[in-house]
Amino acid sequence: MFPKIALDPILAADTGGTIIKLGVVQNGTVLAGKSIPAQSDRPLAERLPVIAGVWRELCREAGVAPRDCAGIGISFPSIMNPVTGRILTHFGKYVDAMEIDFKRWAKDLFGLPLTIENDARAALIGEWQYGAGRNCDNLVMITLGTGLGSAALINGHPLRGKHGQAAILGGHSTLNHAGAICRVCGNIGCAENEASTASLPLHAKSMTGFEQSLLAREATIDYMAVFRLAALGDRVCRQLRDQSLGVWGAFAANLVLAYDPERVLIGGGISASDEVIGAIREYIHQHALTPWGKVAVERAGLGDDAALLGCEWLGRNTTPAATLP
Ligand SMILES: [Zn+2]
Repeated sequence: MFPKIALDPILAADTGGTIIKLGVVQNGTVLAGKSIPAQSDRPLAERLPVIAGVWRELCREAGVAPRDCAGIGISFPSIMNPVTGRILTHFGKYVDAMEIDFKRWAKDLFGLPLTIENDARAALIGEWQYGAGRNCDNLVMITLGTGLGSAALINGHPLRGKHGQAAILGGHSTLNHAGAICRVCGNIGCAENEASTASLPLHAKSMTGFEQSLLAREATIDYMAVFRLAALGDRVCRQLRDQSLGVWGAFAANLVLAYDPERVLIGGGISASDEVIGAIREYIHQHALTPWGKVAVERAGLGDDAALLGCEWLGRNTTPAATLP
């Protein structure tokens, strides 16, 4: 057995819509970390100096100099060109992000190479390296939350595609061809539009009997309330629960058929209950054709830290355009 070699640390940032998690990360451990408000309704250019300042502060805390780090990995909630790292669309957050040359910024700032990656793909990479996806080079990960996220790893390579959008738009594939137009992408009957925390209140309120349902008396209509009240026998909640489990099962099964994984990981705020994991597993085993055997279906292991830890791998595996003059 060879001794474990300590690799140079990586500067990591998981840029979400609400908070930005920053860290100095090494061998799957956050040596120093801090979260700051995202202010994603403001230009990102205003936030970059703050991010740089926090990284410097974290480096001091961890006892390393920024120039001694091996690179920078950033997780970002959008689609980006896999080579240039330029953001292709903004989804209403950080609307100036498409104008920013992140690789140039990193080079000028610390002289370090940078990789910026879609947040769902970064989370999959984190799980692959340090979480429930370890020792498995063919993975699909889905996240069930405000939206539905997805990403795939094939033969040890995160699947990106020509324009960076391969496998990450699974939540926007049609599950109901007679469904509503999706407010995010414009497609019809997207998985995300059929069953996600964002679409749940609208679905609930349109159901027959909603006013008489226990759900109508809840301050917040979310899946925690739906599952709790369904267990008490509320008819509307049972219907919503069963419909949603069906959507998530079909969503995951479609990804199994598309990407041929050995293991499917389920993450996100809604994935906490065994009922959800069990229902998706059963759906896949019943409906997705896998003549070689059964796909393992498991809960993701790293929770909110998955993308930040994925940034370590990204910071070590920078794309060719990182070699700027
Ligand atoms: Zn959509």
